[in-house]
Amino acid sequence: MREELSRLEELYRQLDPNASERTSVRGKVINYSEEFLVGLETLKTYNAESNTGAGLLESPITEEPAGIDKLIELLRENVDSPALNPASGGHLGYIPGGGLYYSALGDYLADVFNRYAGLFSAGPGAVRMENMLIRWMADIVGFPPDSAGNLTSGGSLANLVAIVTARDARKVRATNLSNSVVYVSEQHHHSMDKALRIAGLRISRSAACKSDIECYLREIPIDDHCRMISPELEKQIKLDIEKELNPFLVVASAGTTDVGAIDPLEDIGAICRKYELWYHIDAAYGGFFALTQDGKKKLQGIELADSLTMDPHKGLFLPYGLGVILVKDKQAVYDSFYHEANYIPPSDKDPEPSPGDYSPELTKHFRGLRLWLPLKLHGVAPFRACLQEKLLLARYFYTEIKEHGFEVGPEPDLSVVAFRYVPKAIAGDLDQVNNFNEVLRDAVNNDGRVFISDSKVKGKVMLRMACLSFRTHLRNIDHLIKILKEKTHWLLANKYRLPVETRN
Ligand SMILES: *Cc1c(COP(=O)(O)O)cnc(C)c1O
Repeated sequence: MREELSRLEELYRQLDPNASERTSVRGKVINYSEEFLVGLETLKTYNAESNTGAGLLESPITEEPAGIDKLIELLRENVDSPALNPASGGHLGYIPGGGLYYSALGDYLADVFNRYAGLFSAGPGAVRMENMLIRWMADIVGFPPDSAGNLTSGGSLANLVAIVTARDARKVRATNLSNSVVYVSEQHHHSMDKALRIAGLRISRSAACKSDIECYLREIPIDDHCRMISPELEKQIKLDIEKELNPFLVVASAGTTDVGAIDPLEDIGAICRKYELWYHIDAAYGGFFALTQDGKKKLQGIELADSLTMDPHKGLFLPYGLGVILVKDKQAVYDSFYHEANYIPPSDKDPEPSPGDYSPELTKHFRGLRLWLPLKLHGVAPFRACLQEKLLLARYFYTEIKEHGFEVGPEPDLSVVAFRYVPKAIAGDLDQVNNFNEVLRDAVNNDGRVFISDSKVKGKVMLRMACLSFRTHLRNIDHLIKILKEKTHWLLANKYRLPVETRN
């Protein structure tokens, strides 16, 4: 047995490289990342070539080790080249963010030390840091310091925590589920539908059968600015009460994904208070604009929510993997997520709440460090400046693109601008105009220098310029305007078709 144990220990050594092995591999990893960062400005934002990373499959997981040089080449070819480059300042699609470098270093430290951030008793410093960050974010949106909060992997999970908490706090269960009503706007984020399904309130289309029970989901219409029409919300609630239904939850957006619209947060807050409904605000995209004066004004009423989602991996430019849920009623979240187990010390005497008691997770990545390190190293001021810059860039783009003959959507509340081009010859034909704009989107993206996305608003394909990467500046926006003009002229002169070799 002793011999066998020493043999096994020999093998273990490979898992724990010594100082010189660490230096060698780390050096190569750092060089690879430096090469990327130093050349970032010259790299494409979107690579339309046909490679989709399948080369990874030719190097299967085996018993034998591989060298770091080979692995970096695999990454370069298959992961870090194809399709979208979200670290680029030309990324103006979806909701960008960018990926702060010091966050990567925070993750590095979190991973090397592997401190336990699930329970106060095991990692008091780590848990204190996360709670301190949660209080800082609560303060930004006017939530009280004793709000519950949890650092999640993103906005979708934050929304899920909110939905589960609201369901339990409003005592929605099997006996009254089929009577209960949730209100969202026509442009709510799809993660809300997912959350409702996961929480057992709605049923997926594929699994549904006739006897299924689910709550009502009322989609409240939006106005010309794509904001929820609050009188329509109240009207619907009254109707539902008359029908003896059980309205319990309203979800508003503080920055819709489609066009960045902010629902009338104060009005909806007043309605929720009047009818005693749980008020959730999905501010995954827009919440951190409250760090700017302009944004704070626009987000007035955000403090009225019972629960609120924000995404530091959008609004604070972090690499993917950090959302936050804030809930004013701490006990409500605890009641939904607390746990007891023989092998876990009780947490009731701890001076700080434990993340494991306020989320579906127990063991989790120590996510706080990837936010704390850049916030402390930079201070908050450059974050505010960067957010203010994005608000101005969106307004600039909106004015410019309109002058260049594009049709624009609502004036931007935040940093998303919806627009489209309507060629005169086909102006009356919605399908053709939609098609033209899809082709225009592909033409812009295949060019590679910038990346935009699109969405459908009331049946119209609208192109979207979403500006939230910390690396996006005036030159990127000017670039986009120039490319849009070029490609539009080209398409108009070429029967609205892309040249064959650039179609994908
Ligand atoms: C991005 C987004 C989400 C989802 O967040 P993830 O971090 O992608 O999970 C939810 N709601 C809104 C409004 C968003 O913009």
